[in-house]
Amino acid sequence: MATFDDVKNLVLQNNPEADLTMLELAYDFANKAHAGQKRLDGTDYITHSLATELTLAKMNLDQDTIIAGLLHDVPEDTAIPLEEVEKNFGPQVGKLVRGVTKLGKIKYRGLERYAENLRKMFVAMAEDVRVVIIKLADRLHNLKTLAALPPVKQQRIAQESIEIYAPIANRLGMGELRSELEDLAFPFLYPDEYTWVKQAAAGKIEAQKKIVDKMIVEVNDALAENTVASFSAHGRMKHVFSLYKKLLRKDRDLSKIYDLVAIRIIVPEVKDCYHVLWILHGRWRPMPGRIKDYIAQPKPNGYQSLHTTVFTDDGHIVEIQIRTQVMHELAEYGIAAHWYAKEGGMGTRVPREQLGWLEQLMKLQKDATNDQEYLENLKITLFHDRIFVLTPKGDVINLPEGATPIDFAYHIHTELGHHTGSAYINEKIAALDTKLKSGDLVEIKEDKSRKGPNEDWLTIVQTRMAKEKIQDFLSRQRRMRILDLFSRKP
Ligand code: MN
Repeated sequence: MATFDDVKNLVLQNNPEADLTMLELAYDFANKAHAGQKRLDGTDYITHSLATELTLAKMNLDQDTIIAGLLHDVPEDTAIPLEEVEKNFGPQVGKLVRGVTKLGKIKYRGLERYAENLRKMFVAMAEDVRVVIIKLADRLHNLKTLAALPPVKQQRIAQESIEIYAPIANRLGMGELRSELEDLAFPFLYPDEYTWVKQAAAGKIEAQKKIVDKMIVEVNDALAENTVASFSAHGRMKHVFSLYKKLLRKDRDLSKIYDLVAIRIIVPEVKDCYHVLWILHGRWRPMPGRIKDYIAQPKPNGYQSLHTTVFTDDGHIVEIQIRTQVMHELAEYGIAAHWYAKEGGMGTRVPREQLGWLEQLMKLQKDATNDQEYLENLKITLFHDRIFVLTPKGDVINLPEGATPIDFAYHIHTELGHHTGSAYINEKIAALDTKLKSGDLVEIKEDKSRKGPNEDWLTIVQTRMAKEKIQDFLSRQRRMRILDLFSRKP
């Protein structure tokens, strides 16, 4: 559990000259404000405030942001008003806490509210991106304590985290935080899928770890021989949700995943990255088509590294990522690292060019004439492989691209899936293999006389859930038929 000493130590570690007076005053203030309050998991409320503050201190953010993180729930959850916070800690902290409080009032419900939710997030970002960073840190701790909440809330928060918070963290280049949010939410949102990935990958991870450990020793030798001055090489394990998403793209075939455990090499300068790549390729044969230069061509969120995949001496396959320390920090902390890196940090504004994509999103919002269009635009930017369709009651169902009315029916209820009669999309009758689009209103009419799914549906459905339920049904039916044969009297 996070303590105030942890926060102080981290701040001093990042900046030995830091003056802790304000931090200490804020801690006293928060402690008094939340005195006697408990979280649902039984801990003192202040542990949540401290955990949020600690996450922000880890990212080396400016003092106002760290203090605002500690005080973020004061106006909403205690008797002390925002004005009091502002009076004691200044207009900057006041503005940040106000932003976080505003964001906290929106809930994920229905398509319109969903668009509204995203819109508010982006408006907050444009005003001051630190508000969103605090909100992400807040969410991180809420996910860590999610088990204490009732199941309905667990579902909503997990879904919101994967569909809204994680993509935003990703767009801000905060890879580490994004993965943490996803991995914490994953088991609550898709428990069966989570169990499947964990079980499927466990053995392979162990095997790959051994291969990588052996390879690291050899890499160290090769780099030392070639007098690469200072470097570190270590293994890095793929995050479980990111592995899951990749598996969905690779027909769930684990043998097609080469970066389950990868080697990461960190060097001082850009030229060292290319030098190291040259040494590695001289020593080990690279796999064709897998060399990626994200230094010359960074990913849209700013990510930079060299990636290559090589064959080890024993014929195994290992992915290697090479980057500088600066690139590494940017990959982990993204915009938060920028924040600090500029001219000694402490509240400098993010360079405009870093926010190019954000301006693009703001423009989308201005150009869109309604929520539907705005959502479409955003979805293209943030969620390129998922669609959101509506039930007649207005619930939002999230499906993979290419999903059909049958997938939709099974998603609602197994029995509805088995007895799918006809489908109406936007109130017009449609074929059962129609590919659904985001925003479609889908209604399934049940056909009670139908005995169950037929074989053909297996080629139509896109989701694993639907496929499994159909297979289940069909094999049960086969068993019944056989039993029936045996039980017949001669
Ligand atoms: Mn909170």
